[in-house]
Formats: sequence, structure tokens, C-alpha cells
Amino acid sequence: KFISFEGPDGAGKTSVIKAIVDRLADVKLANQVVLTREPGGTPIGEAIRDLLLSSKSVDMDGWTEAYLFAASRRQHVVEKIKPALKSNQIVICDRFVDSSVAYQGQGRQLGFDQIWELNQAAVGDCLPDLTFVLDLPIEEGLQRIAQHRTDQINRLDEETLTFYQRVRQGFLKQAQRDPQRIVVVNASQELTAVVKNVWHQMAERWPE
Ligand code: C5P
Ligand code: MG
Repeated sequence: KFISFEGPDGAGKTSVIKAIVDRLADVKLANQVVLTREPGGTPIGEAIRDLLLSSKSVDMDGWTEAYLFAASRRQHVVEKIKPALKSNQIVICDRFVDSSVAYQGQGRQLGFDQIWELNQAAVGDCLPDLTFVLDLPIEEGLQRIAQHRTDQINRLDEETLTFYQRVRQGFLKQAQRDPQRIVVVNASQELTAVVKNVWHQMAERWPE
């Protein structure tokens, strides 16, 4: 099983994922869980992540950025995700293809379909079985970040409100296009409610 978590910055992806992994441990599935993230996930991917987030990359062209995200993802799929799925692990990924479509496609306005195609080429048939889009008003997410953020601000965090609004719409548009795979969760709720909702959807899909 391959599950990805998506959403704009400040939606609470990392906290929700942590709680879900804890719950999987409670039902004795901890040894089957592979937790990973994008950009990153492999040594090559983490090196690309550093390049993407670096303050030295201020002059990076939008398409260069899109190709780097796709390149990191390709390596991730080949080196980590596919082998894990083959050995029946539950792969939980913090961001995947939908982030590129939302951030580079809609946010940077490189084109929703163009970025989708680029990423299709990168991942082939390796798409998540289930994707959660943690959705909330952008102002709320940015406020949460301002209050609670522990990791460092990076180059990609310094965008305008309208950029993030486009990103949010990108995720929602993606969800409309692929309602079989993508579930939108209201992330304005309290963390426990969000986790409960996500867990419920997972149990519904995989009753065992
Ligand atoms: O999820 P995380 O905070 O680790 O993402 C790192 C940074 O990369 C964030 O600032 C996020 O907004 C940005 N990002 C991006 N395009 C993507 C994925 C993430 O600009 N496709
Ligand atoms: Mg972040």
C-alpha cells in the first residue's frame, strides 16, 4: 500500500503522519511501515532537496526547479518506493506528485497538465493508492507556521499569499480530477479530529 499526504505549508502534514504511524504501531504494523518524504527520501534525493531549498538557488529557473523535483522523485521511486511495495510494506510519503502539480504547475504557473506529464514520465505507473490532501485556508496555515515552526525557513517558503492560494487551488483541482485516489480532509479541525478522519478512511479502504 502506498499512501501520500499532501497540502499547503502549515496544513499539519508532518504531525498527522506521525500520529498515523503511531496508530499503525498500535495495531502491530510498525515493522511494515516505510516512512519517507519529498523532496528527499534517498541520499540523491536529499542532495537535490538541499539544492532546491538553498539560499544559493535564488536565481533558479522555474522549470529547472520542476525538473529537479521530478528527478528527486524518480530516484525515490526506483530506489525506495517500488522495492518497498514489492516486499509488501506500507509506504507513507510526505508529499509526492500532487505537490509538484500544485506548487510548480499552479503556484509557479508552469501549467497543471505540463507538470503532470513531466511527473508521469518520472514515476511511470507508481502512483499512490490513496492520497490525503490536508486542506485549510492559506492564512491559517501561514499563521500556524509563524507560531509553531521548528525547522528553518527556506528559499521556497518565501512566496506571496496569492502564490499559496494558487497552490491550494492546485491541490483541490487535482482532487477533483482523481476522486478515486485523492481524499480532501479539512485540516482546520483539531489535530485529533484530522487524524481520526484519516484513520477512518484508511480502515474503510483496507478493512484488514
Ligand atoms: O513539506 P516540506 O516543508 O518539507 O517542503 C519543503 C519546501 O518545499 C516547502 O517550503 C514547500 O513549500 C516547498 N515545495 C515546493 N514544491 C514542491 C514541494 C515542496 O515548493 N513540489
Ligand atoms: Mg514545510
